[in-house]
Amino acid sequence: MKALVFKGSRNIVYDSFPDPTLEAASDILIAVKACSICGSDLHIYHGDRIGPHDYSKAMPAFCVGHETIGEVLEVGAAVKQHRVGDRVMVSPGVGCGHCPPCLRGQIAHCHQPRMAGAFGTHLGLNGGQADYFRVPHADLIARTIPDGVSNDQALLLTDALSTAYFGVKGAQLAPGEIAVVIGLGPVGLLAVECCYALGAERVYGIDPVAHRRDLAQALGAISLSPDEAMPIIKQQTQGLGADCVIEAVGLEATISQAFKLVRVGGRVSVLGIAQQGAVLPMAYVQMKNISLFTGVASVVNTWSELIPLLQQGRIKAGNMFSHRYSLADGAQAYAKFDARGDDTLKMMMIP
Ligand SMILES: [Zn+2]
Ligand SMILES: [Zn+2]
Repeated sequence: MKALVFKGSRNIVYDSFPDPTLEAASDILIAVKACSICGSDLHIYHGDRIGPHDYSKAMPAFCVGHETIGEVLEVGAAVKQHRVGDRVMVSPGVGCGHCPPCLRGQIAHCHQPRMAGAFGTHLGLNGGQADYFRVPHADLIARTIPDGVSNDQALLLTDALSTAYFGVKGAQLAPGEIAVVIGLGPVGLLAVECCYALGAERVYGIDPVAHRRDLAQALGAISLSPDEAMPIIKQQTQGLGADCVIEAVGLEATISQAFKLVRVGGRVSVLGIAQQGAVLPMAYVQMKNISLFTGVASVVNTWSELIPLLQQGRIKAGNMFSHRYSLADGAQAYAKFDARGDDTLKMMMIP
């Protein structure tokens, strides 16, 4: 088959790769219909670290990608939920289904390390930016795409939309509240939609890029640049601040801005992947009685709530894919995504 193969820093190429086959009775094999590039894929592309994995080191070539939908081609003997020909979406985290974190629903923290991360690590699981893709523990981590959910929406359910929803739920947003979303990339824009779907009275969106502010405005947010956010939000909340703030950047500056924009006793939810060594203003957080939520989403847990919201049109998740490429042009898609142009949101690739 052909796939996007990691061969070293800034060297992800469209190349031949051995066809995947069923390796366990709980596996399925899918023909990929669409896949997308995640911000975290850029860490691999740059040869950075993700947790314990150092992508600057020499390692065997592997297929990248953890945001994938496809059609079931083969089904292992123990698989109960999937049939050949089904349209499926796949979770990026691979849980065993049996260890204590999995039994608590925290698939992202599965005890079997080769299964705990995303696809596309060098731990023996090849990723889904490929013609074909082996999905382990398929009953647990793959789901038939239901009627009323488009391929674009299903692809967002594999990570970005699930992560946004996880963050808004983590902020304990209640109907009638005022929310702020810092960072209007795909996850931040989807968080704006999730806030309104869950009953927010008003949502402020903050980003330095005018085009992204326009997109948030079109979703009903009051869009502000980072500089104007503080005085305007303070003034429009009688000096109190927002009930909750969802941070979708991960920089020390934006995380500390979240604590400043939230009211006393409010909630801050940090979705942005924090840099190593990032410092929290703990004394400030404590004196304002702020509750802090953070973590990585176990995306399968969000599907039962998000699917009806999509089917009923209460979340549309439209216009998130700013660019569509054939998988054969995947190297260009990575380069374009990495250039972070103002018009770049998410890149879809189709084999
Ligand atoms: Zn992702
Ligand atoms: Zn497990």
